[in-house]
Amino acid sequence: MQKWKLSRYTVVFRSESGDAYFHNSYMGALALVPAAEFSRIEGLLGREITKNDNEILDELCANGFFFPSGTDEKKFVSDVLSRENQSGNFDLIILPHENCNFRCTYCYETHKRGRMEPGVIEGLKHLVEKKTAGCSGLSIRWFGGEPLLAPDIIYDLSDSFLRSCEKNGIPYWSHMTTNAYLLTPDVLDKLLQRKINDFQITLDGPEETHDTTRVLAGGGKTFRTIYNNLLEMKRRDDEFTVSIRINFNNESLALMEDFFASISQSFGDDRRFGLYLRPIGKYGGPNDDNIEVCEPAYAKVAEMELSERYLQFGYLDRLVKKSLQSHGQVCYAGKESSMVIGADGTIYKCSVSFENPDNHVGKLLPDGSLDIDKSKWDLWVANKNIDHQACESCPVYPLCQGKYCPRSSIKENKPVCPMTRTTYSQLVQLAANGHTRFQ
Ligand code: SF4
Ligand code: SF4
Repeated sequence: MQKWKLSRYTVVFRSESGDAYFHNSYMGALALVPAAEFSRIEGLLGREITKNDNEILDELCANGFFFPSGTDEKKFVSDVLSRENQSGNFDLIILPHENCNFRCTYCYETHKRGRMEPGVIEGLKHLVEKKTAGCSGLSIRWFGGEPLLAPDIIYDLSDSFLRSCEKNGIPYWSHMTTNAYLLTPDVLDKLLQRKINDFQITLDGPEETHDTTRVLAGGGKTFRTIYNNLLEMKRRDDEFTVSIRINFNNESLALMEDFFASISQSFGDDRRFGLYLRPIGKYGGPNDDNIEVCEPAYAKVAEMELSERYLQFGYLDRLVKKSLQSHGQVCYAGKESSMVIGADGTIYKCSVSFENPDNHVGKLLPDGSLDIDKSKWDLWVANKNIDHQACESCPVYPLCQGKYCPRSSIKENKPVCPMTRTTYSQLVQLAANGHTRFQ
């Protein structure tokens, strides 16, 4: 009879009450086993088992927490992950305008470049035309600066990309990171017509804190305009998703509970709007010495605690749960299939360190060809900094594969882990407890 053993990618956390949370990072599976039941199976977890030993163990086997004995699980998983990594999708991050109508106090971008040049627009159309003939799907992320400073370029490129995908019969996904100041109903109409239907929009907490950090380039408040645009979105029946990113710092932390209550009145009942939290950080911008941030070790704990608190108010973003699935913590900068195209045609891997020469990996030419500096490209994708021993024996290897943040790995000359064990445990409990409160 087939024997099973606990998967090397299954981690078990105990809550204060003794309940056990199981997470398998290859399957992305989560399970909660109440304390009384867990005490009956705890002693069997280190042994080989056969199905029918116990109802709960059978259930855990069926859901991927156990692996058939005698098979090389490490090899099996690494083969599957590497096949998935070559799935053939093409992922482009496009900066149609590198300037911004905001000057957030923590911003790391220099705003030196502006609107995308005509030769780059042509180059992008040709590039996508060529790529879609041989890839299995096209994913576009509109980023900036502020992409909506150049809506005409977005419409023009989107129309061309959609034609290329249709011609080749492949799926198309399009996402936009925008400050939403210019995301009026009329603009949204035009974006949705072009299948741009997934948005990331940031608020720095409630109005009083947001308006001190996310300010207009010439000075001026932004919260009301963004919030009104979000409310206008909510009034529509269309299908789209909005990830509301809430940035917090020491100052806004104390105001979050009230803010959650008010945001939940507007969006808490609408599955299209999911929320996630991030600490404001020092990202290398000119104002880093003057900005108010949470102490980094505490920031992650606060992020988890706030997320847990928000569960009673509305939907958490699917990103939270996705981060516990295989590939969920791999940055696009580390992927062979992904590149960022700047307004002047510069090709980047990372969408943060635009001024870092290591990140200038090539140039898009007007005929759609790519002039790539292979040695720089490989810095990001070849994973030379991976600590094979640590990563390959790591129980969450399928989540990050040593590619959580290639920028930090290059800088530190070693892989940088996405989370501590404490944060991991909090994330697992959050996801398991909140499975109905994700988009
Ligand atoms: S970087 Fe860290 S979390 Fe990721 S696989 Fe390596 S050891 Fe594990
Ligand atoms: S490499 Fe790091 S900083 Fe750059 S986009 Fe990826 S996670 Fe962000």
